[in-house]
Amino acid sequence: MPFLKAHRSLNTLIKEGYVHKSDHHNTYVLCKFSHSKNDLTTLTVCTKCKDIEEVVIDKNKLGLLLNVLDLKKFNTDKLQQVEIPAICKSFE
Ligand SMILES: [Zn+2]
Ligand SMILES: [Zn+2]
Repeated sequence: MPFLKAHRSLNTLIKEGYVHKSDHHNTYVLCKFSHSKNDLTTLTVCTKCKDIEEVVIDKNKLGLLLNVLDLKKFNTDKLQQVEIPAICKSFE
């Protein structure tokens, strides 16, 4: 099944960090960074056209923010990726 094969290799690309998947819109973006261990992949996703812009947050900086939030229920140590909903500037 050629579809299955393609799907599997896409998963491999995601696992190796060459492609990121937006869970909110089920879309994919090619990674333009070579990530270090401290990177938190951050996908800014347009809620209108589903375009994605990838930016990188230093996990240490996000850690400071999460400490401020004082989460009781969640452990964010293993967080690899976050998504931020946004709207393209062209829609403003
Ligand atoms: Zn990336
Ligand atoms: Zn857009």
